[in-house]
Amino acid sequence: MKQVDGEKLLASLGEGVNQLRGRLTPDASMERVTWFQAGGLAELMFQPHDVDDLVTFLKLLPAEVPLTVVGVGSNLLVRDGGIPGVVVRLSAKGFGQVELVGENLIRAGAICPDKHIAAMAMDNGIGGFAFYYGIPGSIGGALRMNAGANGGETSQRVIEVHAVDRQGNQHVFSKEDMGYSYRHTSVSKDLIFTHAVFEGYPEERAKIRAEMDAVRQHRETVQPIKEKTGGSTFKNPPGHSAWKLIDDAGCRGLMNGGAQMSSLHCNFMINIGHATGYDLEYLGEMVRQRVFEHAGIKLEWEIKRLGIFMPGREVRPFQGATTE
Ligand SMILES: Cc1cc2nc3c(=O)[nH]c(=O)nc-3n(C[C@H](O)[C@H](O)[C@H](O)COP(=O)(O)OP(=O)(O)OC[C@H]3O[C@@H](n4cnc5c(N)ncnc54)[C@H](O)[C@@H]3O)c2cc1C
Repeated sequence: MKQVDGEKLLASLGEGVNQLRGRLTPDASMERVTWFQAGGLAELMFQPHDVDDLVTFLKLLPAEVPLTVVGVGSNLLVRDGGIPGVVVRLSAKGFGQVELVGENLIRAGAICPDKHIAAMAMDNGIGGFAFYYGIPGSIGGALRMNAGANGGETSQRVIEVHAVDRQGNQHVFSKEDMGYSYRHTSVSKDLIFTHAVFEGYPEERAKIRAEMDAVRQHRETVQPIKEKTGGSTFKNPPGHSAWKLIDDAGCRGLMNGGAQMSSLHCNFMINIGHATGYDLEYLGEMVRQRVFEHAGIKLEWEIKRLGIFMPGREVRPFQGATTE
């Protein structure tokens, strides 16, 4: 049974949509967007042509229509009832560029893959970006999640972030404005990042190449990168590694329907067949329950869960959870 109705929502937006240059897709598959390849439909997906097109769309979108932005879906779990309202997915043409804009300065569009910024930095002898080589997301996702790895983090390199708010107003934020902490930014959840400027430092290319190779080799050994996964399921609690808590609680390899905690890296959840959003989220809550019972620690989701449940297939937060 369909929980969202994209055609109806599209019709309700009226003639104004005819001026848009981007693509509107009612009832768009989120299975095709997320790395998990699971979950329901986006009621209406909008892929803006460029920033002006995005601004035009936001100005005509009624305030009561929910709005969600996604990157390349490497950190998303979409529930089976789908995502009500509009899902914005930036187009590669309008938001995918990466370019040098000054000495050690790189400007990247928000849908540019993290890998591309690492490659551009290496080609130009700019250090500080090798960690992005191993993160399979986009710059927009990295700005929102303060993505990081191998000792590097987005907050260390970003100096200017451009964004559009829910009303279609454009903003520029400094690194300080972004209020970064571990996998978190304090700026409004409503913002859509469009591009950002990053600063590195002069570095020998051979050294950068070696760092990037080390990042790749490490990942291939310790992470199930060829699986349908969402990366780290839970954040590391202060002073602890999430994977160790999960392992100690006996959850390595734990399964629920088509979902499993990876045997290779037990903080990675994987879709081993035809997992539903329900299978994945229920498994996550089982793990949180067991870790709480075993170690008294409440794991927090790092993966972003979006959308609504199918009726009768709701997942309740585990018993120890306080606010969700
Ligand atoms: C195999 C694997 C390994 C991973 N390893 C790491 C790792 O080492 N370190 C790490 O930090 N992460 C890692 N991740 C998680 C993920 O790649 C990062 O969180 C990444 O930054 C998410 O980017 P995305 O484009 O996929 O965003 P999505 O998953 O699509 O979205 C994630 C969040 O970002 C928001 N978002 C996306 N684009 C925008 C935008 N333009 N404006 C505003 N908000 C936006 C979304 O609303 C959502 O809240 C891994 C994932 C996988 C699958």
